[in-house]
Parts: sequence; C-alpha cells; structure tokens
Amino acid sequence: MIEITSTNIARAIEKARQTKPFVKVIAFRHYQVINKVTGANYTVKFSKINNRKFAECDCKATVVCYHIGASIGAHIVLAEQMHTAPA
Ligand SMILES: [Zn+2]
Repeated sequence: MIEITSTNIARAIEKARQTKPFVKVIAFRHYQVINKVTGANYTVKFSKINNRKFAECDCKATVVCYHIGASIGAHIVLAEQMHTAPA
C-alpha cells in the first residue's frame, strides 16, 4: 500500500490524462483499470486509515501509478454520491 499525497496523486492523474485508460468500478474503493491499447488490466484499491489515504495497485510500479490516478476520479465521484469523504 502506498500513501496518497497531493503531490504524487497530481503526477499520477497527469499521466492518466495522457494514457486515458478505461476505469471500471468493481465495488466502492475497488476498481479495474484497462489499457485500451494493450488490453492489460490492473486492480486498484483505496483505503483510509486514521484519515490518511492509501492506494494499492497490482502492477509493477512501486509509486502512485497512473492506474491509481485514473481510478481516483471515479472514486471521488462515487464517494460524493455516497456522502462520504473520498478515501
Ligand atoms: Zn498500477
């Protein structure tokens, strides 16, 4: 699990904008990110511990990757719909 900070998530969102992967909601805080070109897909999960935000992705990256960046947009929308703070 990697802690999300405003710096590392901004970088990941920027990379996701360039890559434009497809994000599928599996469950709240649980997403599948699919690369439309290669068909590769990865699972991203978010969690919140003591008001700190964490994410994990099953790709090889050890930083906040663009899969997490792509998922967080869907995640924020869902979290707002559920009247909870974004994880
Ligand atoms: Zn990833």
